[in-house]
Parts: sequence; C-alpha cells; structure tokens
Amino acid sequence: MSRSAAAAKPGSYDSTSLKNFLAGFERRNPQEPEFQQAVREVAHDVFPYLAEHSEFTDKLVFERMTEPDRIIVFRVSWEDDAGNMRINRGYRVQFNNSIGPYKGGLRFHASVNLSIIKFLAFEQTFKNSLTTLPLGAAKGGADFNPHGKSDAEIARFCKAFMTELHRFIGPNVDVPAGDIGVGGREIGYLFGQYKRLTGEFASGTITGKGLEYGGSLVRTEATGFGTVYFAEHMLNHRGDSLKGLRCCVSGAGNVALHCALKLSEMGAKVLTLSDSSGFIHDPDGFDRTKIEELHEIKFGKRASVGAYVKKHPKASFHAGKRPWGVKCDAAFPCATQNEISLDEAKKLVANGCQLVSEGANMPSEEKAMQLFRKKILFGPAKAANAGGVAVSGLEMSQNTMRLNWTEAELDSRLKEIMQDIHNQCLEYGGGGRRIDYVRGANLAGFVRVGRAMLAHGV
Ligand code: GLU
Repeated sequence: MSRSAAAAKPGSYDSTSLKNFLAGFERRNPQEPEFQQAVREVAHDVFPYLAEHSEFTDKLVFERMTEPDRIIVFRVSWEDDAGNMRINRGYRVQFNNSIGPYKGGLRFHASVNLSIIKFLAFEQTFKNSLTTLPLGAAKGGADFNPHGKSDAEIARFCKAFMTELHRFIGPNVDVPAGDIGVGGREIGYLFGQYKRLTGEFASGTITGKGLEYGGSLVRTEATGFGTVYFAEHMLNHRGDSLKGLRCCVSGAGNVALHCALKLSEMGAKVLTLSDSSGFIHDPDGFDRTKIEELHEIKFGKRASVGAYVKKHPKASFHAGKRPWGVKCDAAFPCATQNEISLDEAKKLVANGCQLVSEGANMPSEEKAMQLFRKKILFGPAKAANAGGVAVSGLEMSQNTMRLNWTEAELDSRLKEIMQDIHNQCLEYGGGGRRIDYVRGANLAGFVRVGRAMLAHGV
C-alpha cells in the first residue's frame, strides 16, 4: 500500500513511471471504474509535465492528490409515507483542502456509489482550483432515488442525511451544495436541519440556498450559463461565435435548461433536450417560452420530457434514446457521466459538430473524449462547468460579508471567471496548432493545488 519517493525519483517521470503509477493506482482502487477513468485522464497530462518539474515529484504531490484526505460513509435511516423503514448509504469524500475549505455538491441518485463520488470529488479539486477562488474539493451524496418520492419523503430523507453529515461540515471546514437530485428544495431541508442541530445560522455552510436565507443571485443559472460562456470563448479564440449554430443539449435539469436558455439568448438554435426517458427534438428550436414550459414539466409536475410534444406537433419524442444522432454544429452534454459513447462521438463529428462544451461532469467516455480532443474544439467539464461552483464561492463571500451583490455584478464576475479559466487553458494547453483544453485545464488546476501542498509541507 505504501508508496515512497524512491519509486518516483525526480526526472524519472517517463511513460514507464506513468504505467507503474496507474498499475498501482488501479490496484489500490479496484472496482472503481469512474474514479480510475478520471485519474487516468489527468495522469496522462500531468506525468509529462512532472518530468520537467521535479519540485513536485520528490514530495509525491500527484500521488497525494489522487488519494482523498478522508472518506466518510454513513447509514441514512428514514421512514416512507407508508410508515416503512428505509435505509440508504450516504457519502462525503473530502478530497483536498489545500486552497480552501472542502467544497462540492451532493448527489442523490440510485446509481451513486463510492467510485462515482470519488471521481466527482477528484475532478472538483481541479475545477475549483481553476475558478481562482479559495475552494478545496469534496463531493457527497446517497444512493437515494428521488423519483416518485413525495415532498414529505424528500424532507424526511434530507433531515436524516444531514443528521449524520452535520458533524463533518461547516463554513471553514466543508461546504456542500447541490448536484443531480439535489436542488433548491433539498438544500432548504438540509440547511434547516443543520440550523436545528447546531443552533447556529451559519449561512456559509451550504451553497445553492434560497434567496430569502443567504442564497446568491445567478447561482441557479451559473453552471449552464458558464458552459455557454466557455464555448463562446473557445469559438471567439478562433474567430467564430455561437450565433446561428445548431446545438444539441442533453439533460433537462438545472444545468441543461439554463444552458439552453443562454444559447437561445446568444442567437444559437437549441434542437434537443432529454432526460432518462429519452430525448425531445424541436426543429424550430427551444426559446425562453418553451424552456419555461419544460421547467414546469420537470420541476412543477415532476414529469418526463415526453409531455412536451403533446403541445408541440412539430416536435418529436425519442423514447430511450440520446440526442447525439441529431445533426448539429455544437453539443452540450448536460445530463450525467459517460453519456457520450465513442460511436456517438464519431457520429457527432461525422455530422459536422465542431464543438463540445461539457455541462455535466465527465459526460464523454474516455475514447469519445480522445476523439473530440483530436478533432474538434473540446471544453472539458472541469473548465466548462466550473461556473456553478464559482458562483457558490461568490455565495460564500457574500455570506461572510453579510451583503448581497446584484445580478449584474454576479453575472459580470461569472463572465470574468470563465474568461480567466479560458486564459489558464491557453497558458497551459497552448503551444501546438490546436489548443488542448484538456491538458490546459488539468495542468493549470494541478499547479495551483500542487504549489499550495508544497507550501504546507508534509
Ligand atoms: N455540483 C456542482 C459541480 O459539479 C456544484 C458544486 C458546488 O456548487 O459546490 O461543480
């Protein structure tokens, strides 16, 4: 289990040591395919960099960065409406707090397991570093399926979850937020229980709060808007823009709907949206009114996207399918991890798609990502979707000051942060004919956290 500097002497960071590292890493983290996938991708960029930056190698900075600071796993017991006892498994992986308190969302979804939470927390380390804000990295959640649960059941589950989690978090320790299955409603219940248990109104303990009790304007929109701002920067850099582009968006949650809204505001045409039941295709494009309708279907009625086509005869619903076969100029995967396979990536590229900006975390399978990276403009999640956690960071600043910034102020700060992330990608991912945004994001994210770790000693 133990690793020593002898196994990784400065200057020895060649392809053999990458192979050795990955073999050891996979041995130490068996049966965790998503976590392995996320680390493999970053390691391929970081190892060549380490070969020329020995200051990081003799202190095993990257090896330490791939091992979470701690993993908390707990039982969540709650009662459903029929009075039955229910048990779920809760997680919080506190990955790295070198540049700020642990920070990252909570995911409530039936698929949640340790591999998924570890991959998300690892990615968060780099993403949060790229925001330039003082944010460490964590992720958590539970294998709880919110579909079909009543409001009272959601409330009881959130209460039980926070009863276990509250002792591990706090404004200077670890600051959770939302992710899949955790939105404004859940954050309200979680915060309420934290307040009851601690007797403190510590607003900086959770972000994504309602505006009435310490939330920030633009937080709800930030991830989706940021993904579009990042895409626009990638296009502007080569003299193009989003205006007039046909876009496929997947998902119909908070990220997808705000991504679609910003795209339509910027003059692009959004052709698709989706959920786990299938995708909807509207050849006329989704504008604000249609997106608001979908918001009502998803968040008001809590129904599936298929309901949309009843009122829109030109639109079609494709049950059980993903939208990547629809001809488009740009794709915005905003649903979940590994939602674009290699075949789908090939199809997108063959159909003329010239840009992918990832609103979800790790939505492209490994080989799909490699293809995009080689062939088209590709904004990886840790850069393209960092706007959400960035505005969470700004929510924390406002909570500390006990002041609220205006919508215009926050949107302009979000834009500046997305521009800055793009600049960091150029700095670390430039050099060749084509900007490698994956390498840029991985290295820029690594260097800031790595330097902090060196400064803190062992
Ligand atoms: N879950 C979001 C993400 O993947 C936001 C996290 C946060 O705001 O802390 O970055």
